[in-house]
Amino acid sequence: MRALITGGAGFIGSYLSETLLDEGHEVLVLDNLSTGSIDNIAHIKGRRGFEYFIDTVNNEPLLAELIDRSDVVFHLAAAVGVKLIVEQPVYTIETNVHGTEVVLKHANKKKKLVVIASTSEVYGKSEDVPFREDSDLVLGPTRKHRWAYACSKAIDEFLALAYWKERKLPVIIVRFFNTVGPRQTGQYGMVIPNFVRQALAGEPITVFGDGQQSRSFTHVSDVVWALLKLVDEPRAIGEVINIGNKQETTILKLAERVRELSSSKSPIKMVPYDEAYESGFEDMPRRVPDLTKVTAMIGYETKKTLDDILVQVIDHFRRK
Ligand code: UDP
Repeated sequence: MRALITGGAGFIGSYLSETLLDEGHEVLVLDNLSTGSIDNIAHIKGRRGFEYFIDTVNNEPLLAELIDRSDVVFHLAAAVGVKLIVEQPVYTIETNVHGTEVVLKHANKKKKLVVIASTSEVYGKSEDVPFREDSDLVLGPTRKHRWAYACSKAIDEFLALAYWKERKLPVIIVRFFNTVGPRQTGQYGMVIPNFVRQALAGEPITVFGDGQQSRSFTHVSDVVWALLKLVDEPRAIGEVINIGNKQETTILKLAERVRELSSSKSPIKMVPYDEAYESGFEDMPRRVPDLTKVTAMIGYETKKTLDDILVQVIDHFRRK
């Protein structure tokens, strides 16, 4: 099969590209290197069956041609990272909404299967954990920029489901829960690369808020495994599917574990949310996936624990 991966030079996209190539598939990457990086695909650039195009999905003639050449489209190109979203809300909304709109429009012309990358962020500040795919989404007010990300991704989901219902375009919507692993950059605010970098540099590890908020982190290889299984599963079409890890940790415990596993003497520093992001910033207290659906559909189970992830990321930063 030949896959088009928008955002293929991003963190998840680069792992997906590599795994597809390993399994004998061909890969076309379309990436504008906004948050992605050529370094992410440097090791696969010369491989047979791999082509990459440094451009945006807004180049519609190119997008249409690449879709035409592909059997499946993984639409991963998006503005991601809470820090980026809070700092550049116009860019976030336009990129996420318009990008998905053009991908779906052109995929529909050829009725190519599209996988839309969504996020657990859409559950917002709901406290009804674990989050099931049919749970209510609880977003904060529009004056708080953070929620623009969830809302833009929710629109993407609505639009994809509408294409499926009205025009029979096969789509699969996946909601990722804090996908992490080596090569993820801390530049856009993601917590694990930031904590590891701070711990190794002997700098204070910055825990935002009171550190009692929790997350469940998923290794990128578990996510990629699920993506490949889902595109071969007819029951996934027209569905919204959580992909995550049930192992939950508070951010304070995460900081302590990073410190321990990296043998760091860094102090842990609590930073108020207002200082870390923007005044009045709202975080979600817990974020845990219900994985019943993905488990029933493809026999999904997470293979990597939080410690596996941290050891790998620490090792990655030590080699840099
Ligand atoms: N966080 C933190 N220190 C940092 C970066 C993030 O305490 O240097 C917190 C952040 O406020 C959130 C959690 O870690 O509660 C996860 O943040 P991330 O941006 O990785 O993902 P999110 O779940 O917010 O999308």
